[in-house]
Amino acid sequence: MAQDYDAVIIGAGVIGAATAFELAKTGRRTLSVDKLPAAGYGPTSNSCAIIRVHYSTFDGTALAYEGYFYWKDWARYLDAEDERGLAGFNECGCLIMRTEHNGHLERHCDLAAALDIPFEIWDRARIVEKLPVYDLKRFWPPKRMEQDGFGEPTGGEVESAVFFPTAGYISDPQLATHNLQRAAEAKGSEFLFGREVVEILKSDGRVSGVRLDDGSEISAPVVINVAGPHSAQINAMAGAAGDMKITTRALRQEVVHVPSPEGFDFERLGTVVSDSDIGCYCRPETGNHILVGSEDPECDPREFVDADAYDREFTDQWTHQAHRMGQRIPTLGIPNRTRGAVDLYDVTEDWIPIYDRSQVPGFYMAIGSSGNQFKNAPVAAKMMAALVDYCEAGGDHDAEPLQFPLDHIGRSIDVGFYSRLREINAESSFSVLG
Ligand SMILES: Cc1cc2nc3c(=O)[nH]c(=O)nc-3n(C[C@H](O)[C@H](O)[C@H](O)COP(=O)(O)OP(=O)(O)OC[C@H]3O[C@@H](n4cnc5c(N)ncnc54)[C@H](O)[C@@H]3O)c2cc1C
Repeated sequence: MAQDYDAVIIGAGVIGAATAFELAKTGRRTLSVDKLPAAGYGPTSNSCAIIRVHYSTFDGTALAYEGYFYWKDWARYLDAEDERGLAGFNECGCLIMRTEHNGHLERHCDLAAALDIPFEIWDRARIVEKLPVYDLKRFWPPKRMEQDGFGEPTGGEVESAVFFPTAGYISDPQLATHNLQRAAEAKGSEFLFGREVVEILKSDGRVSGVRLDDGSEISAPVVINVAGPHSAQINAMAGAAGDMKITTRALRQEVVHVPSPEGFDFERLGTVVSDSDIGCYCRPETGNHILVGSEDPECDPREFVDADAYDREFTDQWTHQAHRMGQRIPTLGIPNRTRGAVDLYDVTEDWIPIYDRSQVPGFYMAIGSSGNQFKNAPVAAKMMAALVDYCEAGGDHDAEPLQFPLDHIGRSIDVGFYSRLREINAESSFSVLG
């Protein structure tokens, strides 16, 4: 391994590995450092890896739709072999229940129409035809089991939903990250595992490299923080936090896996479903299971934690989530043995990530991915590579933000949308939905 590179990337999760790949494509010699033993072993490994195209902001929607095309043609994008095979994109679509609490998704449909994203409005009959195990009685507001009225319908039924066909999930997020590692290596990138970055080195007022936990120094004029829930620690290490109006924190999450009800093959016939009426989202999971996540309704406590010391065991949150899903699927069997995942989101104040430079020349960040940026990893990485090019060539991104072309959808976005200096974006859903 060399001791000097054009760029060091801290973190080899899905966004970190994609960033290495995209920087290598611009001709930079990169080193990715991760303290875990392999690529995608951090939060990426437990990602639900849902690929969807509906967001509550125009820029968020545009980036997600652009991102969809990378997964759709994964082999061509990677342009490299992986001895483990390539991760598959299960394009089962995404169904979102329309309620008055999400404005019947009128804004989402307007954004989709403006961006030529295909969608269909499904009535109750169409929803139940697709998901015959569903009972559409309404339960709003989402509750915890000890609350009065839990499990009792609150009147009426969910009347309709919006179906986005250009959506689905990646069943093996770690393999997708390994694919990106191999693609980056094919372009000359190097990866160093089992080593922690403990210091960001500087000279003449800019970044000059990193120090590792074995004392060795790596020189590089560019360092990129893609450290997930450890992002705030790395920013502090770099002295980069001073001017940030938007910051990041680690938020604990539990994800439930339960068997599909008897007689229905959710893995083969199901779809991704976002259901704000019960405060849950779900998707098919291997072994004919249903994966259930929380949409962070008010009744669920938000548990901000120390990314190095948090409870990795399931708590009663698992049971609440599973039973909320059971309201929608009355025949759902909820086993005694808890299965699923416990991991961390890296969350900003407005649940929109930060893809930006910093006040320290040469130090960049792709952080705050808030439980919903797996899908954007390739396109966000390409945007980061363009941002590094722009700033290192003297561009003043804070004053004149980079405009980044989204080639597949024929538009461009103002990368200032993701700035660390932005005001909190009031259009956000302030939840994992982005
Ligand atoms: C439970 C859960 C469900 C999710 N579901 C979805 C979803 O359905 N759809 C979607 O689009 N997104 C989803 N996400 C979000 C998505 O998975 C993340 O945005 C994405 O995985 C973040 O990737 P990353 O490259 O930032 O790295 P991460 O996976 O966050 O990893 C960061 C890496 O940095 C390394 N690191 C940290 N500090 C140091 C250091 N000092 N030195 C060396 N290495 C260091 C860590 O070891 C780690 O490997 C979900 C996330 C979670 C946790």
